[in-house]
Amino acid sequence: MDRARDLGCALDAARAACGAVAAVGSPADFGADGVLEKGAAGPLTLADLASQVAAIASLRAAFGPSARFVAEESADEVAAHGGEPLLVRVAEILRASGMAIDAAGVRDALSSGGHEGGSDRFWAIDPLDGTKGYLRGGQFAIAIALVEAGRPVVGVLGLPRLAGSGCDAGSGVLASAVSGSGAHQRSFAGGDAVPIRAREWSSGHPVRLAGSVEKAHSASDALETLVSALGTVDPVRVDSQAKYALVARGDADAYVRRSPSAGYREWIWDHAAGALVATESGCVVTDTLGTPLDFAQGRRLERSTGIVCAPQRLHGALVDTLARGG
Ligand code: AMP
Ligand code: MG
Repeated sequence: MDRARDLGCALDAARAACGAVAAVGSPADFGADGVLEKGAAGPLTLADLASQVAAIASLRAAFGPSARFVAEESADEVAAHGGEPLLVRVAEILRASGMAIDAAGVRDALSSGGHEGGSDRFWAIDPLDGTKGYLRGGQFAIAIALVEAGRPVVGVLGLPRLAGSGCDAGSGVLASAVSGSGAHQRSFAGGDAVPIRAREWSSGHPVRLAGSVEKAHSASDALETLVSALGTVDPVRVDSQAKYALVARGDADAYVRRSPSAGYREWIWDHAAGALVATESGCVVTDTLGTPLDFAQGRRLERSTGIVCAPQRLHGALVDTLARGG
């Protein structure tokens, strides 16, 4: 077990993925041809694909062909929605940015993300969490976590549009955590990693409550009404796992997610990296019933409903409030 190496490789993979997203260019430039609608699963862009290929190639180069990946995008799903031409474009973009890869290599890297998860060691990857935010000019995250025995042990969030706070100014932050070793952030520009800590909310202050921008993803309005039992709610509506990073560095008090549909189970790649960053910054992260998250249940958090992430005292108050609110 070499956690320093695991973290270093996860950071390299996140940097490679962020570089691939940058190489794709801005959504305004690549236009509608670069976006595929996956139905209920939402939009998929050239950037999602390039990012996943870059992250997996980087981790494979470090850990060899036995590395396992539970990643969001799959070549079959892209093909099923008529997206084959996107794979060719992704290969061209990555080649132009210096990576030796062709369309078959792109297909292969995407296909290798189909591991079913479970209790062995694997990497959970959301190559572009918050795609709707990415397209809208909002936040998005490249999320990479190493999961062992159902627990994230290393987590990295690449946040290209998040401004630094407590580290070098400028846009672009990498937030990271290793189980038992705390959480840190560093700027994209380089420089040292700076420790980050969540701040416990005190009664009488507004509750800065992080939640989804997208109404279809989380019942944010109803949630904010419920939480107003604790105090004035100051909504922090942000796309992607950037919400975990904001709580982890004290820029929000809590992140709560209640799915608008009772049967919805969260994907593990939407939470593995962010939950570890928040936990290591001093938060408790559970589902809305207060049950710890179990990442060994496959590609989804099958035993969890929603998310509550906050330092211990506020976490307890939120779980109680949600239980009373039904
Ligand atoms: P956010 O940016 O917090 O709104 O979260 C983005 C994530 O929401 C995406 O990565 C999706 O996996 C997830 N998502 C998509 N549809 C739903 C839904 N109906 N309920 C909850 N989450 C969803
Ligand atoms: Mg996601």
